[in-house]
Amino acid sequence: MSLNNHYYYDEEKCEFVPVIQNKFDMVVYTACLWILNGVVLAAIGLTLLSNYIGTPAELALKAENETLLEQMQYTRESIVKLESQMESIVEMDNEMYRSVLGMDPISPEERMAGVGGSDPYSDFDIYSQETSEILRWTASKIDNLERRLGIQQVSFEEIQAYYNENQDFLRHVPAIKPTSGIVLSGFGMRMHPVLKYRRMHEGLDFRADIGTPIYATGDATVKVAARRGNYGLMIVLDHGQGIETRYAHLSGFADGIRSGTEVQRGDVIGYSGNTGMTQGPHLHYEVHINGSPVDPMNYLIADTTPEEYLMYQDIARNNPMSMD
Ligand SMILES: [Zn+2]
Repeated sequence: MSLNNHYYYDEEKCEFVPVIQNKFDMVVYTACLWILNGVVLAAIGLTLLSNYIGTPAELALKAENETLLEQMQYTRESIVKLESQMESIVEMDNEMYRSVLGMDPISPEERMAGVGGSDPYSDFDIYSQETSEILRWTASKIDNLERRLGIQQVSFEEIQAYYNENQDFLRHVPAIKPTSGIVLSGFGMRMHPVLKYRRMHEGLDFRADIGTPIYATGDATVKVAARRGNYGLMIVLDHGQGIETRYAHLSGFADGIRSGTEVQRGDVIGYSGNTGMTQGPHLHYEVHINGSPVDPMNYLIADTTPEEYLMYQDIARNNPMSMD
């Protein structure tokens, strides 16, 4: 008697009788069991997958969504950066070009012209609130930048036209750097390097080793070429129209530079030095309009790129000490 056989109790015969199994039935029975197990397991698996992990299609969408959100973050950062660059250009346009050339600045209202009206972004409302807000923010910022860029382009064209019509007057306006070095310290209240207290610094300090050429920044007549107290050896140029420029702490004057000499923009008028009250060799440069000193940063129009302008502005604003 094999242990593997199954038996049942025959009550008529009063004995255990081996169950004769049909092989085919057994195969079908086993197969059904396996299929049923498979179906149940698959159902449990899919339920778990879709509830806690997601179907492959959902997983792909989720990954795509994450990439898009990440990309959106980069876009957002780029837009913020572009906006700040736009601000600098607007500032240069009004403070530097228009102010120096004597043109009216463009008001903030004019620059914002065309903003407002009906909601052009209502199409985004079909998405979730978060997505809709991101899309609205991005689209409105880009539209705004495009509009301001357009206004800026028109403004530069106006400036160019004005420049072409007024070249004679504009040749006299200080418009280039007075020497080749970078800006070291700016216009405004600064710690005096020798006196050790804060006082008004009425010009820009440029890096210049002793003997570096100093240029006339616009057509002018030499008013002063002499030693003047704390300024040391200095040159004052009279550009007409109430404009004067001053170049201080020089080591010497160029040939022929004396009171009354006519000079043109770009002519070498002297050489930088360390005379007068200074902390070291440099050029101290001032621009005066109708007798009052103004920030010479706004008078570097012609040979300063926007990048250089921003760099100089950064140094000029942030250096708490002057070279004097
Ligand atoms: Zn100075």
